Amino acid sequence: MEKAIPHAVLNSLRMNPAIPQLLELQRLDLRIAGLRAELDSFPKRIKDADAMLAGAKAGVAAAKEKHSHAQTERKKFELDVNQWRERARKYRDQSASVKTNEAYKALQHEIAHAESEATAAEDRQLEQMMAVEETEREIKSAEAKLKEAEGSLAAERSQIQSQGAAKKTELDLDLAQREKIAASIPEEIVEKYSRVAKRHHGVALAEAANEQCRGCGMRILPHTFQEIRDSHNEEIIQCETCNRILYAAEPAPIPEQKEGAASSAA
Ligand SMILES: [Zn+2]
Repeated sequence: MEKAIPHAVLNSLRMNPAIPQLLELQRLDLRIAGLRAELDSFPKRIKDADAMLAGAKAGVAAAKEKHSHAQTERKKFELDVNQWRERARKYRDQSASVKTNEAYKALQHEIAHAESEATAAEDRQLEQMMAVEETEREIKSAEAKLKEAEGSLAAERSQIQSQGAAKKTELDLDLAQREKIAASIPEEIVEKYSRVAKRHHGVALAEAANEQCRGCGMRILPHTFQEIRDSHNEEIIQCETCNRILYAAEPAPIPEQKEGAASSAA
C-alpha cells in the first residue's frame, strides 16, 4: 500500500518547494509585463490613429486642390477656344470684303491658323474635363479614407477607454497576487530569480529534460541532472551555461513503483 504514492505528493516531493511558487511567480511576472506593455501601447495607438486622420484630411485637401486647379485650367482653355473661334469668324467676315487675292489668301491663312488653335485648345479643354472627373473620383476616395480614419480613431478611443480600466484592474490584481507569492518564497531565492529573469526577458526557470537545459539547450552533467530529479533535493540548481533555475518536469523513476506495477500486472 505504501507504494501507491499519490501523484500530488510525488509532485511536491520532487523539487525544491520554492520551484512551483517560482513558476507561479514567473507566470504572473510575464502577465504583468504583457499588461504593462499593452497599457503603454494605448497612447501610441491613439497617436497613430490621430496621424492617420491627419493624413486622410491632408489627402482630401490635396484632392480638392487638384480638382479646383483642373477646373481653372478647363475654364481657361474654354476661353481660348471661344477666342480663337471668334477670331476665325471675324477673319471670315473680313474675307467677304477684301479686294485683292493676296489679302484674301492672307486671311484664309489666318482663319486656318485660328481654327487649328481653337482645335488644340479644345483638345486641352477636353483633357482638363477628364482631369476634373478624375479628381472628383480622387476626392470621393479620399473622403472615404477620411471617414474610415475617423471611424478607427473613434474605435481606438472607445476600445482603449473600455479596456483600459479592465486591464488596470487586472494588473493591480496580478501585482497583489505577485506580492503575496513573492513574500512566501525565501528572499534570497526571489532575488536570484529576479536577477536571472532580468537577463532572460522574464524567463528565469527552465525545464531540465534528457540531461539538457530547455532554456539554452546545453547539456547538464549527469549527477546534476540526477540531483534536479531527486525528490528530496532542496537546492536551487542553476544551469551552468545560462544560469536559469532548473526544474524537473518528470521525477526520477522510483524503483518500488516499477515493482508494484510489475506485480499488479502479473
Ligand atoms: Zn541553460
